[in-house]
Amino acid sequence: MNLFEQMKTEGHERVLFCSDRASGLQAIIAIHSTRLGPSLGGCRMWPYPNFDAVLTDVLRLSKAMTYKAAMADLPLGGGKSVIWGDSKKDKTEGRLVAFAKEVASLGGRYIVAEDVGIGLSDIERIHKITPHAAGLSEGSGGSGDPSPATAYGVFCGMRASLEERFGDGSFQGRKIAIQGIGKVGYALALLLHQAGAKLSVCDMDPERVAMICRVTGADPFLGHEIYRVECDIFSPCALGGFMNERTIPRLSCEIVAGSANNQLENAKAALLLKERNILYAPDYVLNAGGLINIADELSGYSKERAYQKIEAIYHRLKEVFALAKKESILPSEAADRLAEARLARGGKG
Ligand code: NAD
Repeated sequence: MNLFEQMKTEGHERVLFCSDRASGLQAIIAIHSTRLGPSLGGCRMWPYPNFDAVLTDVLRLSKAMTYKAAMADLPLGGGKSVIWGDSKKDKTEGRLVAFAKEVASLGGRYIVAEDVGIGLSDIERIHKITPHAAGLSEGSGGSGDPSPATAYGVFCGMRASLEERFGDGSFQGRKIAIQGIGKVGYALALLLHQAGAKLSVCDMDPERVAMICRVTGADPFLGHEIYRVECDIFSPCALGGFMNERTIPRLSCEIVAGSANNQLENAKAALLLKERNILYAPDYVLNAGGLINIADELSGYSKERAYQKIEAIYHRLKEVFALAKKESILPSEAADRLAEARLARGGKG
């Protein structure tokens, strides 16, 4: 499929290829939709193996942002950008400046935020060149690190998932296995511990595991062992694609609910979860807390207001589960239908 066919099929409005000879910047900005408002999405800097991988990722991620914003009831569209390179070696001042000028050239149709390889200080640098950058530090009047907000949204969504499966949303005594104790996983573990859950955790970084075990009394697990932990909720908070034909048969849980983007490797993974009678809480509904928090910054940040909006993730997930039940479809299909209906209405209602 050529790129125009792909854009037509997936609905992308604009794909901007950026190449700056002087700095060596190679980047792509993909705007999937501005139907509900300006597109907002992170910039990822990653050493992709080839051009196809860069393009595939930015197209997929920008479309997911449209659905995430629509489901979160935000007046925003979906976009994403990628800078091709290793953030540890290739992130130079010249490349960031050249990238910022490309964002500026879009006149506000795309608002950039942080993602893997691009942090708060990079966003603040970009913001000096264009106002179309969000997720600034609290010191600069911004909303700061979105991870605690994302964790809070996952926590609210987990409550809806527990109610759906057990008829009781209490975390007291519930067993929850968290894969990935990064910025979100760590904050989530603290919330769950405070709410009375019993935790099992794993991460590739043993120091982070040791730290959270000290604070919460969680049981540590190594690598793939986490999949076999008997628990109420398995929570993928590491990377995408970890729910697949190899991992799902090993799960011993009632619910899958976590923060990782694109948890399901493919459509078959959703069917496999259903076959195993595991309730899946669609990732982009559950992990929208960070986006909701950043979006609040656009109208003058109020943490209280932002967190109130994040709590609505509980109700949205209930809506998803109700539609899935009514129509006998998968929760992932129900989420897509609700997001597409909101897009079709232009965000009204
Ligand atoms: P992070 O990089 O801080 O943490 C990820 C953690 O996962 C790291 O500690 C890493 O060591 C661990 N990890 C990687 N591979 C692993 C494996 N195979 N087994 C166990 N642990 C592994 O990232 P984060 O900001 O905490 O985000 C976590 C996930 O949530 C990502 O998929 C991200 O895209 C998604 N997400 C994050 C936010 C946010 O606000 N930060 C918002 C929406 C979605």
